[in-house]
Amino acid sequence: AKELGRNQYRLFDEEIDRQYVRRMELERDLRKALANEELFVCYQPKWDAKENRLIGLEALMRWRHPELGLVSPAEFIPIAEETGLIVPMTRWMLRDVCAQNRNWQKRRMANVRISVNMSIRVFEGGALAQMVHDALESSNLDPSLLELEITESIAMQEVADTVEQLQQLRALGVHVSMDDFGTGYSSLGSLDELPIDVLKIDQSFVRQSAMESKQAIISTIIAIAGHLKLQVVAEGVETQEQIEFLLSRGCSIMQGYYYGKPMDTKSIEQWFMDNQV
Ligand code: C2E
Ligand code: CA
Ligand code: CA
Ligand code: CA
Repeated sequence: AKELGRNQYRLFDEEIDRQYVRRMELERDLRKALANEELFVCYQPKWDAKENRLIGLEALMRWRHPELGLVSPAEFIPIAEETGLIVPMTRWMLRDVCAQNRNWQKRRMANVRISVNMSIRVFEGGALAQMVHDALESSNLDPSLLELEITESIAMQEVADTVEQLQQLRALGVHVSMDDFGTGYSSLGSLDELPIDVLKIDQSFVRQSAMESKQAIISTIIAIAGHLKLQVVAEGVETQEQIEFLLSRGCSIMQGYYYGKPMDTKSIEQWFMDNQV
């Protein structure tokens, strides 16, 4: 038994080493990913199930590593945040998404708002408004066609400064949404003071929306959104049952695999055509 224990420890140590090495390699390679054009954007539809039309897209970052293939954002975004690489990556993302959106608009392929995820690190530098302004100006995109998705952690940290930055952004004409709502350290107390336009119901609630307790949470979020005059979007919608439940509670904007997975530029253009966008 003693011998076995020692072996298990060795395996455990090896696993830790392996994870550490991968982490260091990813960090090293992520530093070159932007310049090497290994990053690209996928787009996922936000669908209005009542009016049966596309109302927006969420832009999601992808990294195709030259040897490892696709690395999940769940793995590389935290590294980007810790190293500060998220700032130039977000700058690139904003420019790319705005240019792509303008391109679709000009070609009459789609005329919708596209959202981009914002890490707290991007707010810290205080240069976000300038970054957004540059992306809009260089693409000549109507600011109302850009949305920024923030999380509750952003909203809670140094509230005053964040509110000020959000106000600057909204003064530019862009929309702001609260992502993963209900999962953070909210914050209901100051939700009404945040300059936001949209609440996104976290997919963990939607996934379990057959449970009465989760139904209560979803209904409450929809009610809060209604009172604060915010739009509400349900994330992670995968089944007809979920759609019916959400519609019955007054949420008609859905995002999830049921309507479409995140797609690269080529695939989403095909999707636009297939769905007569
Ligand atoms: P998120 O912002 O909450 O994005 C939604 C995630 O849920 C995406 O994962 C999407 O592919 C996935 N998803 C959408 N519909 C469904 C569904 O019906 N079922 C299931 N199981 N999943 C669904 P993804 O693309 O892997 O991104 C994970 C997270 O990485 C994002 O969560 C976001 O926090 C972060 N992320 C992605 N791109 C960016 C970016 O450009 N900047 C920043 N700061 N974070 C990003
Ligand atoms: Ca998001
Ligand atoms: Ca989310
Ligand atoms: Ca999330």
